[in-house]
Order: sequence, then C-alpha cells, then structure tokens
Amino acid sequence: MSHPRIAIVGIAIESSAYAAHRAGYRDFPVLTGDALLERYAFLAEGAPLREAAEWIPVFMARAIPGGAVLREVYDDFRARIVDGLRAVVAEGPVDGVYLDIHGAMSVVGMDDAEGDLITAVREVVGPDPLIAAPMDLHGNVSETLALQLDLPTCYRLAPHEDAWETKERSARALVEWIGRDERPLRAWVRVPILLPGEKTSTRVEPAKSLYAQIEQVEKRAGIADAAIWIGYAWADEPRCHATVMVTGDDRDAIVGEAERIAGELWDVREDFAFVGPPGSLDEGIAAGIAHRDAGGERPYFVSDSGDNPGAGGSGDVTWTLARLLEKPELTGEGAPVVFVASIFDQGVIEEIFAHAPGDAVDVVAGARVDHRVSDPVRIRGELVSLHEGDPAAGRIAVIRVGGIRAIVTEFRKAFHAVADFSDLGLDVRDADIVVTKIGYLEPTLYDAAKGWTLALTPGPVDQDLERLGHRRIERPMFPYDEFRERPDLSAAVLRGDQYVGAEGARA
Ligand SMILES: [Zn+2]
Repeated sequence: MSHPRIAIVGIAIESSAYAAHRAGYRDFPVLTGDALLERYAFLAEGAPLREAAEWIPVFMARAIPGGAVLREVYDDFRARIVDGLRAVVAEGPVDGVYLDIHGAMSVVGMDDAEGDLITAVREVVGPDPLIAAPMDLHGNVSETLALQLDLPTCYRLAPHEDAWETKERSARALVEWIGRDERPLRAWVRVPILLPGEKTSTRVEPAKSLYAQIEQVEKRAGIADAAIWIGYAWADEPRCHATVMVTGDDRDAIVGEAERIAGELWDVREDFAFVGPPGSLDEGIAAGIAHRDAGGERPYFVSDSGDNPGAGGSGDVTWTLARLLEKPELTGEGAPVVFVASIFDQGVIEEIFAHAPGDAVDVVAGARVDHRVSDPVRIRGELVSLHEGDPAAGRIAVIRVGGIRAIVTEFRKAFHAVADFSDLGLDVRDADIVVTKIGYLEPTLYDAAKGWTLALTPGPVDQDLERLGHRRIERPMFPYDEFRERPDLSAAVLRGDQYVGAEGARA
C-alpha cells in the first residue's frame, strides 16, 4: 500500500464528574481542515510522516480539563465527526483513523464517552481500517475502547512533557501497521487500582521506574508498544481503573510483558505517595511563612489541589481564598506577599472594570458555578490592576488585601506557568507565597519553586478520594478494599475487535 488514507478526528477533554462546571462550546476550540493538520508539527509539509500518507483532517475539538461535557455539545461534535468521515469514505477507502482523544471525557448522562465515540467512528469506516489513539495516561480504558482500538498508546510522563512525542509515535505506528497490512495483537490487563494523579507523577518513584522501563520493553522482538494507563479517579464509572496494554505481533512476548508490568504495578501499589509534601491549607501557609522567616528564597508554592482546573476542577471554588482572607497574619501589618490564583466570575469582572487601579473595591465573587464546597467570597481591598484579552480568562483583575493579591478572571483559567503571573505584572519571585489551583507543579512553576506544599483542599478534584466517594466503580479496588489474594492479572489477547484465546493467553 503506497499512500494510505488516514482520517484525523477527535474530542479531547479530561472531565471531573464531581465538578459543577459543564464543558460547552466556549471550552472547546474546534479545528478542521488545514488548521487541524497544522496542530501536528510532525505532519508539517516535508516531514517524513506527512509524506508517508494522505492525512485527511476531519474534526478535532479539544478543551482544557473541566466538568462533564454538555450532551448536546458532544452529540453535535460526534455528528460532525461521523458526517466528515462519511464524506471521506465516499471519496475512497480509508486505511486508518487517527483518533486524538484524552480518555477521561465525561458526557452528561452517558457512560464511557470515548467508547461511544469510537463505536460511532467504527460504524462509518467499517471493520477494516486500523484505529490509533495517543491517549493521556490518565485515561480510562473500557472494554469497548480496548476492543475497537487497534493501536492504543499513552503518555509515559506526568507532567506530560512527552505529549507530542506520544502523538507522533502513535501516528508513526499507524502508518507502519497499515504498511504491514496486518492487524496488531494487543495484550490487555485490567489492574484494580484507582489513584489520584498527584500520587503517580513520574517525577518520583514508584511511577518513575515503572514508566521508564517501557522504552526497553518496546525494543524487544515482537513488541511494538507498551502503555500503562494509571487511570482517572474523578469519575465514577466501571471503566475507572488502571490498565496495561502491550501491542505487537508476538503473542508470547506481549502477554509476558503485559502481565509482568501489571504485576509490577500491583506490587508497588502501597508505595504511591503524594508527589509533594502534602498538608492542609493552614499547614501550607504556615510552612510558607516559616520559610520566609527562616530567610528562605522566594517563592514558596501552595497547591490548592481540590479545584485544579488542570485536572477537571471548576475553577471558581472560593474555599481557599475565603480562608486566606480570614487570616490576620496575611492581611495585617508586615504580612507576607501572597499571590492567590484564581477564581472566575463574569458578573464581578463587569463590576470591577467600572473602577480604576487604586480604587477601593468591595465585591462578592466566585462560586457561581461550583458552590458545593463554598459560597461566594467577599473581597474588600484595593484594585491593583486590570487586564484584557487573555485567550482563556478574558478580562482579569488583581485586588490587594493586605499582603494578598487575589486574582479574579472573567472566564475559567488555570495559572500553571510563571508567565500566567508575569503577564499580570506579578513576578513570582516577588511573592513569599504563591497559592494556585494546581496539583503537582507544572514545569516552569516547578523550576521557580523554592519550597512547596501540596495542600489537600476540598473541591471537584479532591485528592482525598474517599471524601468524594465512588459508587459505580468495580470492586474490589485498591485502596478502598482489602485484597485477601492477588487479583487476576492475566492478559486477554485481542486482535481487531475479537478476543483471540483469552483463556489461552499463555499458550
Ligand atoms: Zn493527564
């Protein structure tokens, strides 16, 4: 096959089923045509992969993490994918589909959204084309997805510094397997573990070594790819658990490695611990003040992890800001400089923008979307600055209350990079403490941090999973249940949408 035709489609979001936020059109920039193709640098004009196939960009909608997707929005996106693929099929046979998904999308009123999407895709293109998906390791793999996806893979780093490498690897694998004119075998193991991402960062053990070995595994004869989904804990569906999949053409090799990796994951389950020093919000602030008093360098970071928009938090939970504003040591004389990011409130931004910097302001903000854990918070202070045109946040105001610089935005935004602050004239090196809605620190913040507490605050992505409660996940599940014996970690072997001798995996 000289020039395979590969269609590109996808919907990608990580959604917390515990968030009141609902992801709609505003959250999903849509790419089609050349703009979609341009998303992938490895498909740039002249790049070897670009030349290796006819890439047909159909439809891609991608949002930053949030709450569940509105049903009508998902249905519309799916219809656009189905219609687009139908048009591609009408022009000639399709050899492959590059399905750009995250794997932890929730849709209002629906289970296994990615399973629904791939089923719709398969119905249009038929049983023959290979489907590849470069997923997030926080995705959840259902049986439907496992059966329909010929070439599954996922990131190997958290934070996901290898996201583009993974997307390229997936595209390359798709071209290669189409060229071989052969369906890959997959060895699939479901691992009954459900852990928050902040315990499974690959910056620290045991995830570091667990994931680092993949590079060696996939070099073995008969193995093309190995992937470990640690899963996504802030949804409550039967598919929420860890998964190992190894792809290749040698049944014994893929089964052996899939079972070995799954066994290793199981064996280290007790060793997963929070990537940063965990604590309460009060402990984090006290540690930051102690760091300053001891002459420590700036800044000290406190992750307000319960409402991290990067993991699916609503982004307007006021719980943390309200508590900080109540602390006399942060608002009185000699208070440390504390940046607090952020809450969004469109109506309040309207109100604040009637003022000029230097004015006294008195507003009640936040908790318009997510008021499950806290009420709107009263902010009485001095308006420091106003900003317009942020692609995510729209308009932004900074309000000073004692040492606190509270950031209020018009729309939802994650402050996950040093530049997010410096764009507002806030140099993180001028802050004693930076409180932001994040879990593990993303690269630029990680590099800037001179100290850090991962504060286990309440919210839609509460790190304390038992505080949230799951009712619909499969049981038993670590760490909720006692395991008297080792769970069954034998691999099922799949080719296309068929089990090929699940019972004889080791045969
Ligand atoms: Zn992720």
